[in-house]
Amino acid sequence: MVTLSAQIAVLIAHAIAQGHGFFDDNAAPVIRGIGASTGVAIGPIWWDNTQPDLSDVFPASTLDVAREQEMLTVAIEHALADFKRMRKKLDLELNKDALAIFDLFTHLLNDPMLRNDLKAQIQKGDKADWALRQVVESYANRFAKMSDVYLRERAQDIKELGQRLLFFLHDTEYPIHEFNEPVILVVRELTASILASIPKEQLLAVVSLEGAANSHAAILSRAMGIPAVMGVNTNPELLSGKLGIVDGYSGEIFPDPSQELLLEYRELVSEESELSQMVESTADLEAATKDGQRIQVMLNAGLSADTSISINKNVDGVGLYRTEISFLLQQQFPSEEEQLHQYRSVLSAYSNKRVVMRTLDIGGDKALPYLPIDEDNPFLGWRGIRFTLDHPDIFLIQLRAMLRASIGIDNLSILLPMVSSVQEFDDAATLIEQAYQEVHDAHPEVKKPQIGVMIEVPSMLYILPFMAERVDFVSVGTNDLTQYLLAVDRNNAQVADIYETLHPSVLAAMKHIFSTCQAYDLPVCICGELAGDPIGALLLVGLGYDTLSMNTSNVAKVKYLLAQSSLDELKQLADKALMQPYGKPSTIKCAISLRPKVLLALSVQVNFNSYFLVLL
Ligand code: PEP
Ligand code: MG
Repeated sequence: MVTLSAQIAVLIAHAIAQGHGFFDDNAAPVIRGIGASTGVAIGPIWWDNTQPDLSDVFPASTLDVAREQEMLTVAIEHALADFKRMRKKLDLELNKDALAIFDLFTHLLNDPMLRNDLKAQIQKGDKADWALRQVVESYANRFAKMSDVYLRERAQDIKELGQRLLFFLHDTEYPIHEFNEPVILVVRELTASILASIPKEQLLAVVSLEGAANSHAAILSRAMGIPAVMGVNTNPELLSGKLGIVDGYSGEIFPDPSQELLLEYRELVSEESELSQMVESTADLEAATKDGQRIQVMLNAGLSADTSISINKNVDGVGLYRTEISFLLQQQFPSEEEQLHQYRSVLSAYSNKRVVMRTLDIGGDKALPYLPIDEDNPFLGWRGIRFTLDHPDIFLIQLRAMLRASIGIDNLSILLPMVSSVQEFDDAATLIEQAYQEVHDAHPEVKKPQIGVMIEVPSMLYILPFMAERVDFVSVGTNDLTQYLLAVDRNNAQVADIYETLHPSVLAAMKHIFSTCQAYDLPVCICGELAGDPIGALLLVGLGYDTLSMNTSNVAKVKYLLAQSSLDELKQLADKALMQPYGKPSTIKCAISLRPKVLLALSVQVNFNSYFLVLL
């Protein structure tokens, strides 16, 4: 009976997810997915099933190889022209990071390796679309196997590129819909191209059956301000034509909502617009608390296929530039000249502000396709500084590129990742000095950069006094520090609830780091995700930190919250939070007592599953 029930339970759960509410036909079904772009939309649902699907392409061979090669070449040319057109269309509206998807597609399509693989497959006698499917799937599988969430989701981008090429191969260009009224668009797989081809005014929200929160389509919908829910398990045929509510905060969709629910959500929509107006009011100002304590708000950058980064005038500089992504997207190590070009564009975009560039942090969940590392425990293995110290050639090229890029701009700081001992720092410092001397010989005007280390391995907490004698600054990577302190893999969904960013020991570590840095007069910044979390940012300032580095999307919220709070209030919050045994729930309660409504509304995406809490 137990076995039987277990089997039936799975079938029932699946049927309910598919919209068959056979226990209570009157109950309004709720469909759940991943909230990928915040906001609420109310309107008619439109299911679009016109997209051709790469997985519908089946094995087919050809005798006319030359014709298939020609078709492929024409499809690639059309796709390239199309990306250029779409990029231009969106250029005025969006920031550079969001547009990076079109640059990535262009880059991939121009990549000789992909073109050669496609041609070679056709040369074997496969029809162009079948060759395309095989090559795209093998590339996508390579990305899908990577444990880094960001890179894993690039598999989606490769598939999207394959879909686009398929449109042009089959000559079935995605139709530009003319809806009679704005709609909630439901698609099998949301792509950047769909978002770019439909006028923004016609999209109330987008719902995608496939995809995840960090796909480029999700990034694009956030940049366009369109609520989005991804990864929805439902039967879309049953939704089409109905009135619906999409809650981009909680990832919920309510088809045929009750009058009460509609009323409630309409109120939320108006609260939401009030809230964003409020936040925008402080976005251009310097970050400071209500009582005038200036806080440096810096940018985390580099997690983009684009080599440059958008200029953000409202930040105090770049607190963390992750250099590894461009290494990961290439077929070989980028040359010193290539790196020089990339770093210079970042340094000059922030020419009068500080830019902290981190040296290569590969290994762990970031394996280079051209240098596979096979380890049982990659996060405890050959990672970050451990790898670069074993490859001084690679390290020296990167250091020289950074130093040369900084000549005349003089705003470079160098940050070393994953340092766990003084010896590692000393060895790295010797190589930095060597790179500096080499650059200095050719360019005597080069300035010495500031050198810092990441605090992300717990051992650093106890050797900070030794470090203080050696480094100019430190930067706390709370993402890894939390992972190593709690012994919980930051990428493993199975243990995601144990990865607690506000765990009492994380807070105690943050307090310890701050007081040690203060005692040794050592400048310290936080560049992990905690710094951009609304409650995290308030807590950190309450603990005494005055430099926070975060993703662009959190800058305005954090500035607003700081401007609402006095330093005294924040200190009280930190004192209370440090006394809480259970981390997140109790810390949030303390925070709520400080700034009830605004704080709840702003932290809703990070900390809660339900937007309704805003109403409390
Ligand atoms: C961190 O670990 O907190 C950090 C900023 O580095 P990354 O997320 O790149 O590992
Ligand atoms: Mg890290």
